[in-house]
Amino acid sequence: MEKGREERVAQSIVDETLEKYRRYLNPSWVKGFKLAGLDTVEAEAEGTIVRDVFGREYLDFSGGYSVFILGHRHPRVVEAARRELERMPMSVRMLPSDTLADLAECMAQATPGDLQHSFFCHSGAEAVEAAIKLARAATGKPEIISTVGAYHGKTLGALSASGRELYRTPFEPLVPGFVHVPYGDAEAVEKAITKRTAAVLLEPIQGENGVILPPDDYLPKVREICDRHGVLLILDEVQTGMGRTGKMFACEHSGVVPDMMTLAKGLGGGVAPVGAMVARPHVWRPFGQHPYLHSTTFGNRVGWAAAHATLRVLMEERLYERAAQLGPYLLQKLQAVREEHPDVITDVRGRGFLVGVEFTHGDVALLVMAGMASRRVLVVHTLNKPEVLRIVPPLIVTKEEIDRAVEAFWGAVEEAKGLLQEIAGELEKTD
Ligand code: PMP
Repeated sequence: MEKGREERVAQSIVDETLEKYRRYLNPSWVKGFKLAGLDTVEAEAEGTIVRDVFGREYLDFSGGYSVFILGHRHPRVVEAARRELERMPMSVRMLPSDTLADLAECMAQATPGDLQHSFFCHSGAEAVEAAIKLARAATGKPEIISTVGAYHGKTLGALSASGRELYRTPFEPLVPGFVHVPYGDAEAVEKAITKRTAAVLLEPIQGENGVILPPDDYLPKVREICDRHGVLLILDEVQTGMGRTGKMFACEHSGVVPDMMTLAKGLGGGVAPVGAMVARPHVWRPFGQHPYLHSTTFGNRVGWAAAHATLRVLMEERLYERAAQLGPYLLQKLQAVREEHPDVITDVRGRGFLVGVEFTHGDVALLVMAGMASRRVLVVHTLNKPEVLRIVPPLIVTKEEIDRAVEAFWGAVEEAKGLLQEIAGELEKTD
């Protein structure tokens, strides 16, 4: 097809798609895509690159909200998924599945300590629901302590453990029995424990709250407090797990083994949605006694195989070490931009490839996100703190790609400042 015609065809795909989004999905998304300069249509992806219908290439540092830990279409994950697609994509569930058994064994080997039994599902929220229910069943107690600003998902139980009022208020009353304490404060956890406490539920780093790192001794202290009071510790590694922070799981930085761990996002290797709740044997008992006490219909063999391949690639190639090695490089380069522009960037922080850049205001973050998109680099805000952009490249990213992304970031920050000055100038004129 000649170029002009190709463009017209691509443009009509965009127009039709956005119109269908407006009519049949959510008109607010269309506004969001436009504001972010992303009113196009995704077409294909490979490695660190996403291509749109115009053939434009975007460097993906958004990771689809941290999903693409191995980049897009990692060959081993695709191959594992394809094998299942061609022989038996969904489990009949009436017969045992070696695909599921192999994944569960690998999960027990990959996770620290004696974390052993897994419940597999399709999202982070579902994994968290399973953990909340198991905590109640295993202890016979109703209360869960979680943290201010936490993000655990949007189903009612997970939402009850989460922190942002905007997402909570319209759905009240939420599930009773949830207490929120300040994040990073182990003493606050201890003070909140009562005779009715079943578990403490924490993210090792608060991802959606703007990449908040707790003090180094936080998790060990909370572990010790939980042990002393006979309370379970659930670590939500949905965002921090699968190598994102430089270790296979973020709790390994402090040598803490939780009683339950929740996983999703990167677990399916960016090829299939997979979530998991993994528990230690003594906690698992209620689910072990009644296999239908907590269950779901679908046996997603494609997802199971993808998750197994993802775990194996991560363990065999020790890809998480790339986040440990290159994460500080990324952080340092972003810090340099902050030093040049402290009037709009208030902080740069993170661990491994989970990095947050905090701006003075959510609107500045949005302008920078749009500026980066126009420079063909994708990043995304955090859900509980719109003024923080999250920068989450895949573990396979190269140093040159990091340089390219930071260059785009630098340009986008300067452009955003220029726009803000222009607006301020216009406002002055109208005064
Ligand atoms: N827990 C954490 C720590 C998360 O970051 C998220 C998603 N951002 C969830 C749970 C919920 O996952 P999902 O959106 O797949 O339900």
